[in-house]
Amino acid sequence: MHHFNYRDNELYCEDVPIKLIAEKVGTPFYLYSHATLKRHFLTFNDAFDGVDRLICFSAKANTNLAVLKLFADLGGGLDIVSGGELYRGLKAGIPPEKIVYSGVGKRKDEIDYALSVGILMFNIESLEELELINDRAGLLKKKAPVAIRVNPDVDPKTHPYISTGLEKNKFGIDTDAAIEGYKIAGELKNIDVIGIDCHIGSQITEVEPFKDALNSIKTLINELRGLNIGIKYIDMGGGLGITYDDESPPHPGEYARSIIQAIEDMHVKLILEPGRVIVGNAGILVAKVLYRKPGKAKEFVIVDAGMNDLVRPALYDAFHAIKPVVEIEGEQIVADVVGPICETGDFLAVDRRVADLRQGDLLAVMSAGAYGFVMSSNYCSRLKVAEVMVRDDRFHVIRARQNYEHLIEGESIPPFL
Ligand SMILES: *Cc1c(COP(=O)(O)O)cnc(C)c1O
Repeated sequence: MHHFNYRDNELYCEDVPIKLIAEKVGTPFYLYSHATLKRHFLTFNDAFDGVDRLICFSAKANTNLAVLKLFADLGGGLDIVSGGELYRGLKAGIPPEKIVYSGVGKRKDEIDYALSVGILMFNIESLEELELINDRAGLLKKKAPVAIRVNPDVDPKTHPYISTGLEKNKFGIDTDAAIEGYKIAGELKNIDVIGIDCHIGSQITEVEPFKDALNSIKTLINELRGLNIGIKYIDMGGGLGITYDDESPPHPGEYARSIIQAIEDMHVKLILEPGRVIVGNAGILVAKVLYRKPGKAKEFVIVDAGMNDLVRPALYDAFHAIKPVVEIEGEQIVADVVGPICETGDFLAVDRRVADLRQGDLLAVMSAGAYGFVMSSNYCSRLKVAEVMVRDDRFHVIRARQNYEHLIEGESIPPFL
């Protein structure tokens, strides 16, 4: 459920006609619905009612300060993968004691930053990282709270680029090595072992992979408790999928039930790191048709948003529905919807049945709230687009469109030239 609906042939975000925003802000822009973001967060959170839990929104899905602030106000925590995300989270008002830090490549300065502000825990992905965190904590006279990210070797049945819980993936530590890791961690002076973590992938559309992962984690926890290593937190990561096209992922309620059942007797606090399921369908990308080009083999709709603005189609072959902002009468066409970039991979849709979009028409690229703007780049010296949030009948530019000065910020021509 989202709040992007037609009224009298025109697409609205909540109570604001999208055409109106395009007139004020220009195109392209990302557009987020406050009501949808809030609803998705609360639906997910409420699904775990009665369970001691913390919802740590996965910052990398959408890091706009306004989005993070909204979740902070709803009591949310944050899952970060970099010092930059930590900075943003704190700026948005997320309390450090609700922040968990994942990622295989944490740098020394990032570790120091996280230690100094006092985050909830580090999700450790290798023994060398564990040693480094112990050293840094010693220097800073802190104790580092950690979980080990376990790789349960389950197949999440999703796109290979976004599956992370297989033995061949770079993430986590396999279950046997994890026991060893916990033993080592238990001996380290500046480490406080508090949890266990796993994240098996993204855009997962069944509950079974989560259940399998949890069963493997449970076995491990029992083994660890036998060794007198106490586990207070289970972090189940994120990964719940959404409907882009015709997928039917489990409702958060169903997902929650399967997890709750499994951890009932474990006496742990649950941490969840949802990203896509909260923000994916709460955002769209609005673009404008620049040209129509009837090719010999194909018809092309050339729009002003490209792969630098939304890379998912090019990177993952991802599907995003495309809707006209003002409904168009008459026959649909089959076309490639492409951007202005000099790459064949620069498309938003291929061989797609779309409305008979003409020069100047606005279109909405749906389900673009997750891994949309955050993955955008300045490739081809294109300006990063604006981000806008709607609440009821109001809208606000939550990130200004870049200008040409931004493009060369920090660049300098050396004196020897
Ligand atoms: C990306 C990521 C998430 C969020 O994944 P979604 O599929 O967007 O829910 C959560 N935890 C970790 C460790 C991640 O890397």
